[in-house]
Amino acid sequence: MADSLRSLFENTSNDPRSLHRLRERIAQIVSDTIARGEDPGANLSLEQSRSLIESLPRLSEDQIRDLGHHDSLCPICYTPFAAILAEEETALAIDDFAVDEELGVTKLAAPWQCGHVFCRRDISKWIRGGHGSCPMCRRTLLESSTSDSSDPASTQEPATSPQDAELLTQIRTYMEELFSNGAVAYVDHDGDFRGFGDPIYVPEGGYDDDRSEFSGMYS
Ligand SMILES: [Zn+2]
Ligand SMILES: [Zn+2]
Repeated sequence: MADSLRSLFENTSNDPRSLHRLRERIAQIVSDTIARGEDPGANLSLEQSRSLIESLPRLSEDQIRDLGHHDSLCPICYTPFAAILAEEETALAIDDFAVDEELGVTKLAAPWQCGHVFCRRDISKWIRGGHGSCPMCRRTLLESSTSDSSDPASTQEPATSPQDAELLTQIRTYMEELFSNGAVAYVDHDGDFRGFGDPIYVPEGGYDDDRSEFSGMYS
């Protein structure tokens, strides 16, 4: 696994599509690894998972900063939240009506939930897969009548084998390396970080004045 992981990163370029594929692949590997340690109790119905996904809030940059997570990575795709926010911002700048419900960062925010923070894409996919508990702490996602689930002490760390733990550490190291590389960023007119890929110029006020360079994306 270590070798195939290394080649996965070696075969990733700074092209945004290549990085996007890498992120999807990492999220899949991490989700599968986490699911192996899951208590096979809760299987969500389609209706339950749909309403859970609909209830996920979209966090603002300020909210994420207030939570102390501005410099954190999504615990599933190991992408920095700052990069995920930049991706959301860029998508909205390209298309004001972008309603991709999987953009941005969210939190398991209901009173009975644990408060763990994820990119919306990964936690939505996890819930759509029928998982009824948080991938990080196993606390139930559903409101329960038993006092048990509302007791924070009932949460527990997932049982991860030493091999899996090492795999996750390795992925984290590779991803941190990737994102600490200055080439992996969009920059705007002020040189601020905007997202994945080789540095490109983002005009002030977004893309509204000149969509021609993106016309290929819509054809
Ligand atoms: Zn993620
Ligand atoms: Zn949790």
